[in-house]
Amino acid sequence: MKPKTALHKKVVKLSATLRPITATQKQWAYSQCFEHIAYRGKNGSMVCSECAHEWSAEGKRGNKCRCPKCGAKLTVSHSLKRKSTQTAHFAVVTTRDNFQVIRVIYVKWCSRKGEKAEYIVNEALQRWFDAEGNEVNIARKKCFMPRYCDAWNFDSDMEIRSRTANYDNIPIYATYPKCRVLPIIRRNGFNGFHYTDPYDLLKGLMSDNKVETLVKTRQYGLLSYYLYRSQYRRDSWQLIRICLRHNYKVKDVTTWYDHINTLERLGMDIHNPLYLCPKNLRSEHNRLVELLKRREEKVRIERERNAEIERQIRQRKDDEAKKTYPQRMSRYLDLVFSDGLIEVSVLQTAEDFYNEGEIMHHCVYTNGYYAENNSLVMSAHIGDKRLETIEIDLKRLIISQSHGAYNQDTKYHNRIVSLVQRNIHKIARRANQKSENADVISA
Ligand SMILES: [Zn+2]
Repeated sequence: MKPKTALHKKVVKLSATLRPITATQKQWAYSQCFEHIAYRGKNGSMVCSECAHEWSAEGKRGNKCRCPKCGAKLTVSHSLKRKSTQTAHFAVVTTRDNFQVIRVIYVKWCSRKGEKAEYIVNEALQRWFDAEGNEVNIARKKCFMPRYCDAWNFDSDMEIRSRTANYDNIPIYATYPKCRVLPIIRRNGFNGFHYTDPYDLLKGLMSDNKVETLVKTRQYGLLSYYLYRSQYRRDSWQLIRICLRHNYKVKDVTTWYDHINTLERLGMDIHNPLYLCPKNLRSEHNRLVELLKRREEKVRIERERNAEIERQIRQRKDDEAKKTYPQRMSRYLDLVFSDGLIEVSVLQTAEDFYNEGEIMHHCVYTNGYYAENNSLVMSAHIGDKRLETIEIDLKRLIISQSHGAYNQDTKYHNRIVSLVQRNIHKIARRANQKSENADVISA
């Protein structure tokens, strides 16, 4: 994008005064950003990825070593791979005029066993911002895969790029420690980067007094949590202020947040500094986790016990319903309707329900129809061949359903329905009979 506004023109002019990345800065980045390798051979030989020096390490174990020639710290690679590449971004922080500048540099490390490692260094992005809230990005073009943070097109020029391009997701592996920051940032407490992204930190120190407070109170763990963690609690700041008031430094932030969650689950007051700021966080946290486990185990056992009791009650009721079925339905049991071919009769016992359900592949038994006082279940058959199972609603004296095997209707369906329909007055008469067992039935 051509610089159009006065701001753009000014930044482009200032950018031209930035010096290229120095050899010292590059060397520093090489040592910081990559895991250098000692290629281990089958015969116990080692080859340094940095200077290609080869030496014998026969009998030596361990995954780390130092090259006896160039002194590089190396990680031993046991794989047979002979080639390796890594990429990273590092940042150089400086100022121009009243602008804070973050320069983001892409480095690629290419190593081939037996050759000195090669490095490719390219500046990819400069973020310019000032205390007035002006912000300008000078950058290379991103490739067609903008989601991949290292997909830069290094054939493109460093020029002003739209602020909508996403430069926030570029992970900065390390920030060169010698840096220049604006007076306002220094005044607000800047004293190093503490493993944060320099853009987020410096921008925060310019405009967010919470960042300033965390830096000034040296709560660096909380600082990076504050800047990045999406699971950051809503009431965090309130809790952090309690810590600050009591001079409590949170070193292990993850455990501290776990600890708060545990306190909450135990129903303890998280705003009580006695709980929130334990002297020995780890051991207190472990103690509470054990307590919580025991409590939850107790609840689980109790819940299982209750479920078992409920199951037994249900079972007892079900057994009772099976046992009392012939008695409860005694007034209907002898009902048989016939049209000369099809016969419809009442199921006599709970066992009949079982057989009907098994043979007809439906739920008349499993859903416990024998326990229903307001349903009469009949079976239609020709000789021994079962056709359909009929449920009659005794309250409304209508057929609720009539189905054959697998709940399908048979070709006799209409005939069966009309046969029952014609005889339903007989059921009605029985239903209205004052039975001696009536009280037992409804109970
Ligand atoms: Zn070496």
